[in-house]
Amino acid sequence: MAKKVEKKLKKKVKKKVSKKTEKKLKKKIEKPKKKVEKPKKKIKKPEKKSKEEKVKEKPKEIKEEVIKIPEKPKEVVRVKRELVGWIPRTKLGKAVMRGEIKDINEILDKGIKIKEPEIVDALISNLENKLVFIGGRPGKGGGIERTPIRISAKMHRSGRRFSSTAFAIVGNRDGIVGVAKGSGKESVHAIRKAIEKAKLNVIKVSRGCGSWECECGEPHSIPFKTQGKSGSVRVTLMPAPKGVGLVVDNESKKILQLAGIKDIWSRTLGDTGTRFNLIKAVFYALKNLHAYRTGE
Ligand SMILES: [Zn+2]
Repeated sequence: MAKKVEKKLKKKVKKKVSKKTEKKLKKKIEKPKKKVEKPKKKIKKPEKKSKEEKVKEKPKEIKEEVIKIPEKPKEVVRVKRELVGWIPRTKLGKAVMRGEIKDINEILDKGIKIKEPEIVDALISNLENKLVFIGGRPGKGGGIERTPIRISAKMHRSGRRFSSTAFAIVGNRDGIVGVAKGSGKESVHAIRKAIEKAKLNVIKVSRGCGSWECECGEPHSIPFKTQGKSGSVRVTLMPAPKGVGLVVDNESKKILQLAGIKDIWSRTLGDTGTRFNLIKAVFYALKNLHAYRTGE
């Protein structure tokens, strides 16, 4: 066929027209069928669908973008604030940095010692801190005016050398609390040290409703009676029903509030004027709560 076509093309020009017309006709015959069969479907249904889809798809994309953009920066900012300038040195710190540990309870349940305060910062976002009024000086009209910093002096050849001591409590108001003492030449340094050390000293407080008058099962109090001791101070904490509040002195209130306990009764023995020992006794009482429950 190819040879014949070539010969015809070379020899006769008239036949080209005929061939062209034939081809056109063939094309017309072939195409219209397709056009008639397929385009009807394509034109009638697909176009409407495509238009609808386009109309639907575009807003979705825009909405998703709008939602996603504000979320990401917040997380990034939170992480950055906590971890800026932090180079983890311990194995635990590196694991936290890599995101392998996301819950502080994983660390506390295993009893691993925390050696970097940034670990606690990274894992607990809403950590609060409070200072215990351990210091005091003679107030106006007698008595003692309480201050958050205790200033002590040691004698030296050249006179008195002062140092400041602070006692800090940290907690998230949801079962995690820590206390520590810090000292330095300046009170600012003492406070910073105390807070950092308190973060390393955090414990998990088991809460519950151990009151036979309440029996609601919510963690607003402690599960059972507990005791703690520091120096001459002995503290007994007892579960109380809802609405009783914290029946303790103002300093002990701070640690119980930061631990997330709302109702409690207490009894103290010894020199409770030494606030340092008083708070430590409460802390040990809360610590014992956990020790008994885990059967240690
Ligand atoms: Zn209750």
